[in-house]
Amino acid sequence: MKFTRPMANPPLFLVFLGPPGSGKGTQARLLHERIGLPHVSTGDLFRHHLKNNTPLGLLARQYMDRGELVPDGVTVDMVADRLAQSDAACGAILDGFPRNLAQVVALEAMLADRGGVSLAPLFAVSDEEVMRRITGRRTCRLCGAIYHIEFNPPKQPGVCDADGGELYQRDDDRPETVEKRLYVYYKQTAPLIGYYFAKGVLAEIDGTQPPEAVQAALLQVLTDRGLLARMPVPAAVTG
Ligand code: AMP
Repeated sequence: MKFTRPMANPPLFLVFLGPPGSGKGTQARLLHERIGLPHVSTGDLFRHHLKNNTPLGLLARQYMDRGELVPDGVTVDMVADRLAQSDAACGAILDGFPRNLAQVVALEAMLADRGGVSLAPLFAVSDEEVMRRITGRRTCRLCGAIYHIEFNPPKQPGVCDADGGELYQRDDDRPETVEKRLYVYYKQTAPLIGYYFAKGVLAEIDGTQPPEAVQAALLQVLTDRGLLARMPVPAAVTG
């Protein structure tokens, strides 16, 4: 028989679930600022590679522009490298990973001796809201600043407030690509909801509320489940 000793202070791994545009990235950033847990976004990691013209970035681009998933092998290796870095010793907020069942299995293996996934918050928003949020986005060609034609418009349409750069719609923000991303989400990622529900770690949160209200709901779930007490800086959440 194998005896396993309970970990004194197991790391905290959170898997953020929800369709593209549900606010996972925003919520992950806010939570990172609040409790210091590293924010690991596979989309951001791929975009970083793309900006630096690495072979991985160039490979990922073909898939990203079409709204498809980058192959599992390179994605899993990239996440494993990231979670092996010292700042992830206390855990991580996973935003955009895992995105299919093969990636779930790979993550289980990575976290086998690190306590597994503690919570999978699902940020629920409708498809119509996803469309409105993503297709309204505009990005500055010069500095990369992001606007929204409805929620955060620039002073002059099509022009960046900061540097006068041209604002454009990224390929993966076009309506036809968003439809494809939603299709991929329902086909490949949505089954993860049932998986994490069965594991007892799913928590559905209304993602249509303003970002601060969504964050408050998330902090409440973390508190109710006794997960914040694990963080090295729990006092930060009381302010
Ligand atoms: P995101 O910013 O999370 O919407 O990701 C942007 C794009 O990066 C996605 O549409 C995919 O092409 C790719 N991507 C991000 N995360 C993953 C993942 N876990 N597996 C495969 N592809 C991913």
